Amino acid sequence: MQTIDNFNFSGQKVFIRVDFNVPLDEKFNITDDTRIRAAIPTLKKILSDGGCAIIGSHLGRPTGVSEKYSLKHILSRITELLGVHVDFANDCLGREAIEKSAALKPGQALLLENLRFYAAEEGKPRGLADDASEDVIAAAKKAEKANQKEMAKQLASYATVYVNDAFGTAHRAHASTAIIADYFDSDHKLFGYLMQNEIDAVEKVLKNTVRPFTAIMGGSKVSSKIDIIENLLTKVDNLIITGGMTYTFTKALGGNIGNSICEDDKLELALTLMEKANESNVNIVLAVDAKAADSFSNDAKTKIVPVDAIPDHWQGLDIGPDTEKEFAKVIENSKTILWNGPTGVFEFENFTHGSRAVGEAIVRATKKGAFSLVGGGDSVACVNKFGIADQMSYVSTGGGALLEFIEGKVLPGIKAIRGY
Ligand code: AMP
Repeated sequence: MQTIDNFNFSGQKVFIRVDFNVPLDEKFNITDDTRIRAAIPTLKKILSDGGCAIIGSHLGRPTGVSEKYSLKHILSRITELLGVHVDFANDCLGREAIEKSAALKPGQALLLENLRFYAAEEGKPRGLADDASEDVIAAAKKAEKANQKEMAKQLASYATVYVNDAFGTAHRAHASTAIIADYFDSDHKLFGYLMQNEIDAVEKVLKNTVRPFTAIMGGSKVSSKIDIIENLLTKVDNLIITGGMTYTFTKALGGNIGNSICEDDKLELALTLMEKANESNVNIVLAVDAKAADSFSNDAKTKIVPVDAIPDHWQGLDIGPDTEKEFAKVIENSKTILWNGPTGVFEFENFTHGSRAVGEAIVRATKKGAFSLVGGGDSVACVNKFGIADQMSYVSTGGGALLEFIEGKVLPGIKAIRGY
């Protein structure tokens, strides 16, 4: 397999799939350009080698052509960050895209309009009537899959090399993220730096693990983390279960959780997970105390209580100080750390303490040589909020893609290039 470091792009036309799905305000100003910045090293490498870059991305979830989701809004920021003028094609498939990509010279770059303006990118029919029959739905799905192939083939025809640097969409088998790779031989398709770094970080944690390995799983619901927890039970030494999930486990163990968030239909599951952990010699670490609040509000009255003795009408919105110490001890004795999900409602300033304590314990462990991977929306928001992102070994840019990768799934965007 080719690697970006060893590949010489001189004279090549490169179709590069990036994830420039950045948040915009109502005036189309970019409010966070992290995703653009993340792809700049790969773009620079292509251009400085003397290749030209045809850049494809999606933005948002359009259901057709729409001003709101036009990539032209972000063109000037890309030009600014890349330090090279980037041209724009008003459509990713029309004549302008074909002509402009054909005319590109070494060192030049072209941004195509939002790939998702076409349903074929996702390969799923749009706008079907609610009462469409099964036959109609099946025919529409088949037609859209055929369109998807055509779209992939056309995008591929612009280029001699395919580079995928869009980790954020690696879990999607879309025209530009996976199907397109079929039109390039193995010497002419490769991962960009971002994609390679993401893969390396996850595989360092899950495959080449240095022990002890501790995963910290937070967030609100067991149901959304169940597949990850099950996969991690075969891999970790310690599993810290925190955030809103705490209370489903605590209730399952017979504790009083007051009004705390709880999935009553997952109590059995919580017990089963604990049994499985026991069988696999995984040390499950749960909170011992909670910062309870008398309402779901930043200004609520609070008190520290044992996690299994939360008074009626009170709810646990963060971990308590004893739990912080317990978690920190486990984290600081670890050599590999994965953090996904806050310990509490970190959006409320008064309930950030636990998440901050976990973040700081990870910083200390990382300083002592542990490898720490942080990923999945909210924990990334936490490390950014606490100003400690640069003290983690790796902060993933992937949300859903990272979670599916950790679940042990094969991601179509990765498989399309390396075969697994
Ligand atoms: P997730 O998206 O599943 O990772 O969950 C993140 C969300 O869980 C954040 O918005 C937190 O506010 C929320 N959360 C964490 N702990 C609690 C809690 N104790 N009660 C309610 N929500 C929580």
